[in-house]
Amino acid sequence: MSTYDVAVIGSGPGGYVAAIRCAQLGMKTAIIEKYNTLGGTCLNVGCIPSKALLDSSHHYHDAITHFEEHGIEISGDVKANLEKMIARKQNVVDTNTSGIQYLMDKNKITVYNGVGSFKDATHINIAKADGKSEEIEAKNIIIATGSKPSTLPFIKLDKKRVITSTEALSLKEIPKHMVVIGGGVIGLELGQVYKRLGAEVSVIEYMDRIIPTMDASLSKELQKVLKKQGVKFYTKHKVTGVKTSAKEVTITADDKKGNPVEFKGDYCLVSVGRKPYTDGLGLEKAGVTLSERGQVEVNAHLRTNIATIYAIGDVVKGAMLAHKAEEEGVFVAETIAGQKPHIDYNLIPGVVYTWPEVAAVGKTEEELKEAGVNYKSGQFSMRALGRSRASGDIDGFVKILADATTDEVLGVHMVGARVADLIAEAVTAMEFRASAEDIARMSHAHPTYAEAVKEAALDATGKRALHS
Ligand code: FAD
Ligand code: NAD
Repeated sequence: MSTYDVAVIGSGPGGYVAAIRCAQLGMKTAIIEKYNTLGGTCLNVGCIPSKALLDSSHHYHDAITHFEEHGIEISGDVKANLEKMIARKQNVVDTNTSGIQYLMDKNKITVYNGVGSFKDATHINIAKADGKSEEIEAKNIIIATGSKPSTLPFIKLDKKRVITSTEALSLKEIPKHMVVIGGGVIGLELGQVYKRLGAEVSVIEYMDRIIPTMDASLSKELQKVLKKQGVKFYTKHKVTGVKTSAKEVTITADDKKGNPVEFKGDYCLVSVGRKPYTDGLGLEKAGVTLSERGQVEVNAHLRTNIATIYAIGDVVKGAMLAHKAEEEGVFVAETIAGQKPHIDYNLIPGVVYTWPEVAAVGKTEEELKEAGVNYKSGQFSMRALGRSRASGDIDGFVKILADATTDEVLGVHMVGARVADLIAEAVTAMEFRASAEDIARMSHAHPTYAEAVKEAALDATGKRALHS
């Protein structure tokens, strides 16, 4: 039987990063993945394929709506070829997943393809696709088995008409009317993909606003812009049923006033969140406990109730984000190596890759109000930037929340072009506990979208933005 210092179950961004860091730290490491390709949800059916389709559909949409204003004339029809877009997306996925295989080889990490399940706290059985199985032993085990889409109790996901993000990333046709249940990240990103390609898109959201966990100003701005692009929103609607026939889906809901309403579409995307995945893992054989929400329970060191078993990423509490899983992977590897790593969960940014993009880090205004913090706010509109006018991307703003007394930046919230990249500046500033004045006094290249961060900081420090 092969023995390891560390065995990682699951090869998503949590698992594969943990494995690399363990190997870097000199530990003999194995990784077990039930699918044939590495990379988990993120690389195979999550972050990467969704961004590939967002980019392709963005190009198409620009061609039919914005090229003309830029003086680009197209003779003949511009057509969206979904089959080609999906094929390109798959190519992007394949390149990325084989890149992870390369990283495993480079770091001398042994890869096992098969379903891993605990035999006891130090032994894992690996059931392979050909029916054979193999057992390995490991001093330390990291559970990184991720998550799967969740649904509502009364909705049956037939994966043909009533679909999850996984199917939405590989559709064979552009829907005529896609009804999206859940106005969170997946619903809005994939909703926008198909809206750009010509589908009618209706988003039904239970709460009173889309992306309800983000700062309310972001929800309002994004909804306004997406509405302008033609997406229909039904907030404060409670879905009560979903029925399918061969080519149609009927969704019933109670509207804001409690009156029954009906939506008919050819596809219904269910995007009401994801749930931790531990099926077939045999946790009970190792004695590892789960929380009431089905998450693997961990302490502040991401250790389960069994001292040599750790868990990271979507399968534990916290934001279900690839970069959060990655941080936790490094954290656990360094903990096992005897180091004392640290993660500041308040500084894990959140991004929605619609266009305009949405990005945030730190506290929202709602959280600061609830905590009774005395804060001040500075804001700057993207439309006032020379860079935005040059590209034509004038929607959105940057908002900086700072402590009213100390000026320390407490939260940064943005909507606009490329804010997914701009948020890194805010994370850096907050990691170093910068004041709004610190950001305001830094030189920002002109013309860039980043100038909105400087201007918002100037606004926060004493209403002294220069270009508004
Ligand atoms: P996963 O990536 O889910 O990987 C878990 C792996 O474990 C899987 O490969 C699974 O097959 C394997 N596994 C499970 N059980 C076993 C077993 N018993 N034996 C062997 N292997 C097993 N996050 C972002 O930060 N940015 C984004 O832009 C983004 N976009 C997304 C878009 C979509 C459509 C979706 C669905 C998600 C997106 N996410 C995004 C979320 C992101 O994908 C997850 O947060 C991330 O993948 C979690 O990483 P993980 O390592 O915890 O688990
Ligand atoms: P989500 O939590 O982002 O959004 C779910 C939405 O569904 C929420 O707005 C919620 O209020 C709503 N909802 C819940 N129950 C409902 C009901 N009965 N009727 C109507 N609406 C209902 O979840 P998601 O969009 O499914 O994404 C799952 C996870 O994947 C998220 O945790 C997210 O972090 C991750 N993800 C991240 C990215 C990114 O970082 N850009 C992209 C996609 C997915």
